[in-house]
Amino acid sequence: MRTRLAPTPSGYAHIGNAANFVLCWLFARAQGGEVVLRIEDVDRARSRPEFVEALFADLAWLGLDWDLGPAGPDDSESPYVQSSSVRQARYREILEDWKARGICYPCGCTRRDLALASPQVQHLTEAPGFGRPYPGTCRHRHPDEAGPHDAWRLHLPQEPDAFTDLWGGRQELSNLQECGDPVLARADGCFAYHLAVCADDTDQGITHVLRGEDLLPWSHLHRHIFTLLGGNPPSFGHHPLLGDADGMRLSKSAGAESLGALRRFGTHPEEVLGRILPVLHPELKRREDAISLSELLSLGTPLPANGRMKPSVSRESTKPSQRAGAAADGD
Ligand SMILES: [Zn+2]
Repeated sequence: MRTRLAPTPSGYAHIGNAANFVLCWLFARAQGGEVVLRIEDVDRARSRPEFVEALFADLAWLGLDWDLGPAGPDDSESPYVQSSSVRQARYREILEDWKARGICYPCGCTRRDLALASPQVQHLTEAPGFGRPYPGTCRHRHPDEAGPHDAWRLHLPQEPDAFTDLWGGRQELSNLQECGDPVLARADGCFAYHLAVCADDTDQGITHVLRGEDLLPWSHLHRHIFTLLGGNPPSFGHHPLLGDADGMRLSKSAGAESLGALRRFGTHPEEVLGRILPVLHPELKRREDAISLSELLSLGTPLPANGRMKPSVSRESTKPSQRAGAAADGD
């Protein structure tokens, strides 16, 4: 089995990201599996080299290692970096294939067009389960009709998707109704997160995707994309999110403490591991004293054998952030 740590370098990683990194790492290591490190910088406009650099320092500080991934922050042409030329070529190849197969279509809708189509909400083009689904304005358009300023959207099926979550049991959702046809490539030529991440998971042999429960709608969409790529979808697990002392969800936008700041304040990494313990083993309380990575490993796979935790994912609470970068699980 193989998991991946998949940070998006659009900000400094915080303790919520650490919870996901440690969980993915423990899940693999406790079962003798492999860990991939992937830099999810497909949205190059939002990614910055200093965030990549900080990320490597954060992972080293936490004591996490990996079997496959970039050699260091400067290894920007690694196939485990989404902005690398080899991965960009791969995403292009997939898009061209799907155009030829007629399963994607050009879309010239601007944000203003979409806002007019459903005026109550602001449209977010990449985030299923967030806002209103794309109304399908351009669904009838043929790939041959594409203009230079068109984005590309994936034609989704009507049928709902269902799978068994490693934590939460059976999950079902209609991608088309909830999300609408997602963007695969933007008008500026930048590939969308959903295309890149599914291509990477497929090509890198990822067997288990573990992410925060807020991203559950994405997993339904990704399962469909995996089948289009000709592979079997990996197993998915959606873990609870780490809250702060007041139970508020931590995110970069909420000003959560970055791991770099904790490090500079002299925090010991084992204190961070103690704080994220409830995400790893919900039956255990946060440890004020701290816990080591090897002690965590001795607790076994952070996975309920009997579905002890049901993610309380309702439509209202599933609000994946607009872009991958701000996702609390580092995805
Ligand atoms: Zn359109």
